[in-house]
Amino acid sequence: MDPATFKDPNLTVQDVLVLDTLLADVDVRKRTNGQVPANMDSDGASNAISKMKALNDPGDPEFEPTLFVTWDLRDLVRLYPWLDKWVLQPYRECARKLVRVETDVVMITHLLLYFTTSVPSAILLFSHFSWIHGVLHWIMQTYYVGTYTLMMHQHIHMGGILKSRYQWFNTIFPYITDPLMGHTWNSYYYHHVKHHHVEGNGPDDLSSTIRYQRDELRDFLCYVGRFFFFIWLELPLYFLRKGNMHCASRAGFWEISNMATIFILWNYVNWRATLFCLVLPLAQLRIGLMIGNWGQHALVDDIDPDSDFRSSITLIDVADRYANEHALVFRNIDYMMITVRLLRKDYKYLAKCLVPIGNQIGMDEDEIAKMLQAKTRRFTEADIRRKFPQKSQVQR
Ligand SMILES: [Zn+2]
Repeated sequence: MDPATFKDPNLTVQDVLVLDTLLADVDVRKRTNGQVPANMDSDGASNAISKMKALNDPGDPEFEPTLFVTWDLRDLVRLYPWLDKWVLQPYRECARKLVRVETDVVMITHLLLYFTTSVPSAILLFSHFSWIHGVLHWIMQTYYVGTYTLMMHQHIHMGGILKSRYQWFNTIFPYITDPLMGHTWNSYYYHHVKHHHVEGNGPDDLSSTIRYQRDELRDFLCYVGRFFFFIWLELPLYFLRKGNMHCASRAGFWEISNMATIFILWNYVNWRATLFCLVLPLAQLRIGLMIGNWGQHALVDDIDPDSDFRSSITLIDVADRYANEHALVFRNIDYMMITVRLLRKDYKYLAKCLVPIGNQIGMDEDEIAKMLQAKTRRFTEADIRRKFPQKSQVQR
C-alpha cells in the first residue's frame, strides 16, 4: 500500500468529502502553479462543508445516524432490506429517543455491546475462572478499548450520553465499564478535561511532549514511564500547585480507591480474574494512551508552539477541522503509528501520509520530511520561556 495514493474503502462519507476536497485543491494549485482562481477552491470546500452539515443534521433528509462503526449503514440496507425494515429502523427510532444528540445513536449500540459481553464475561471469570476465557476476555477488551475511549471522551466533555432524564445511568455506568476497559474511576475526566485541555501540551502539562526529543526511543520511554508510575501522585500535586483543592482531593481519592479495589480483589477474591479483567487492561491502556498522546503532540510548531492550530494534527479518518494553513493533515495513519514511524525516524513514510495544504503544496517529499523532522526538536527551558511567555510569568 502506498500511503500517498491509497484510498481506504472504509472511510466514512464525511472523510471522503474532506479528502477529495483537499486533493482537488492540491491538483488545482499544481496545475495553475499556485495561481488559484479566487472562486475555484472555496466553491469545492463550501459544497463539501454543506454536504457534511446535512449528513450530521437530524432534520435533513441526508441525515444518517451512525449505528455501527464497523459497517456502513448504506451497505447494510442495500444487502439486507428486511434487516433494515424489521430490526434497524425500529432500533434506530428507539435509540434516537434515548440519546442527547441524535448523532450519538452509535453509542447506544456500544453500551449494549459492553453490557451484554464485557460485564457478564468478567462476572463469569470471577466465579469460574479459566485461562482460555481469561485470554479471550482480554483480547475482546483490547478490541473494544479504542471506541470505548472515544465514547468516554464525548461523555466527559458533554457530561453524559443519554438524555438528562436518564442522568442516573450516565453517572453510574462508567463505574462498571471503566475499570474493565483499563480506565480508573473519573481519572479520564480529571486528567483530560481539568488538566490536559487547560494546559494544551504547554510547559505545565504533565503529559507535555515539548521537553522531549520526539523521535528518540529513550525520550519516549522516559515519557511513558513517568506517566505509568507517577501520574497517580503527580496529578493531585498538579492541582495543589494550581490551588485547586477540590480537584486535587478527588483526583487522588479516585485513583487510590481504584488501586485499593484492585489490591483487595487480587488478594482476597481471585487474583487470576483480577489480572485479566482489571490489571492487564489498565497497564495496556496507560501505555496505549501515552503512545497516542505522543503521536498527537510530537510534531510541534517551532514558531508558535502554543497555537492550537499551528501545532494541530488532523487525521483524515477522524476529521474534525481542516484546511488551516499551518496544520498538518495525515491520511492512512493513526496517532499510534505516527509514534512508531517517528521513533524509527521514518520521515519519508510520514511525508507520504501528509495531505499537503497551503504552502506545503509546492514542497517535494524530501522538503516535507525535513519540515516534519524540524518539528520534533526538543525545547530547552530557555526556548520554553521565550515561546510560552504568559505561562512562565503567570501561574494559572
Ligand atoms: Zn478532549
